[in-house]
Amino acid sequence: MEIADYKKQSRNYWKGKISFVIFANKCNYNCPYCFVPEVVKGKEPIETKKIMKELHRVRAGVDAIVITGGEPCLYKDLPILAKKFSMKNLPVKVWTNGTRPSVLKNLVKRKVVDFIAMDLKAPFQKYGEITGTKEPETKKVRKSKKFLEQSEIDHEFVTTWSPDLTEKDVVETGNEVKTRWILQKFEPKNCLNKEYCKKESKSPEEMEKIARKVKNPEEVRIRAGRMEKVIE
Ligand code: SF4
Repeated sequence: MEIADYKKQSRNYWKGKISFVIFANKCNYNCPYCFVPEVVKGKEPIETKKIMKELHRVRAGVDAIVITGGEPCLYKDLPILAKKFSMKNLPVKVWTNGTRPSVLKNLVKRKVVDFIAMDLKAPFQKYGEITGTKEPETKKVRKSKKFLEQSEIDHEFVTTWSPDLTEKDVVETGNEVKTRWILQKFEPKNCLNKEYCKKESKSPEEMEKIARKVKNPEEVRIRAGRMEKVIE
């Protein structure tokens, strides 16, 4: 897997954990609100050896590994990398957009991940618009979703409330999920499309009001930065 960047310690990628975060290089989507534009466009990859050395150095100060992106599942060898990390006796989380179900299945089958977060960007008919992509591969996204919902792996589906999603869109997206669904705040910072840095995001109160209308998932949560709340 090509690695674009890493963070030695972050509390923002796995609730309650201090994570060593690895960013896979490039993405097959171009979500205008994406907050890692440098990664999505592609950077000079960092050698895995260097990452492992860094992890070794800070190992005592972290309690989890998060592999995000970009899109980590674009790389078929992701399970090999995840295995390397899981051998450090740290739980591993992968965050994906769900467009590579075969890689996702492989990760679970090989038991090299402990948690999977998958984006569910929008109602499927709006996927192209919300992801800034002509061919958003929604069949594959549906396949990944179904696989996760039927699997034993701990997982969640995340919808970022993009400025282009109406309240109705958000409710429709949430109701696609059977297991755990998170409505996440859009942060107008460092966006892939600079115009989105000027757009407004919803308040946690507005998010909660809409999240309450979502009835199909077993569990519904809202997330704004490090704040996460289960909607009872
Ligand atoms: S927000 Fe969109 S463009 Fe950015 S990494 Fe995720 S899927 Fe890719």
